[in-house]
Amino acid sequence: MDVSELERRRDLLMRAAIAARECRKCAIGYERRNNVYGEGDPCARLMVVGEGPGETEDELGRPFVGRAGQLLDRMLAAIALPRADVYICNTVKCRPTALGLNGPRNRAPEPQEMENCRTFLDEQIEIVAPEVILALGAPAAKSFLGRDFQITKMRGRWYAGPRETPLMVTFHPAYILRQTGGEIEAVKRMVWADLKAIRTKLDEPIDSAQDDKEEALQAGLFE
Ligand code: URA
Repeated sequence: MDVSELERRRDLLMRAAIAARECRKCAIGYERRNNVYGEGDPCARLMVVGEGPGETEDELGRPFVGRAGQLLDRMLAAIALPRADVYICNTVKCRPTALGLNGPRNRAPEPQEMENCRTFLDEQIEIVAPEVILALGAPAAKSFLGRDFQITKMRGRWYAGPRETPLMVTFHPAYILRQTGGEIEAVKRMVWADLKAIRTKLDEPIDSAQDDKEEALQAGLFE
């Protein structure tokens, strides 16, 4: 990707992030400390979409920087993808909270909140135009694939995401961290299989490159 294209996309993302910061469609837009728009390579081949910012993300204005984020970094590194090479964002850009005894606690985003935020997510997908999308956890998966999506039964397969982008769903790193006892090994195995599928997909030859090659071969054939 040339530098001017990188700059163009960076600029578009920056403008979109400013618009997202202004948004107050949901009550959580008034409650959050920072709007967590997203970050990463504007020309990333992989886009990771999580649920919504947690406490640390809300505080720092960056996605996946808490404990789950550290695990996500390790998951990506395991398939040779440094965090800086991917684009990371969430289905909602403001931290969804409920009132707890010790202050606000995290909760899953509501369908209406995800719908309100959808234009921002769609815009990110349009600008970054990733080759592959990885949805983390059931709420992110449902936002792409419908409310009937069941993560335990339906993860680990390829779906057509926005712009027909190949979409994979795996367990959310926060869910992995919560596992204890017998479940944990099985969950880790499934996540590892999903990550490997992503690596394989990214390593597949790009169709247009293949077409070019075939065209060149054919041209030589009749010389
Ligand atoms: N969990 C998410 O889904 N997103 C974040 O940014 C952090 C934790």
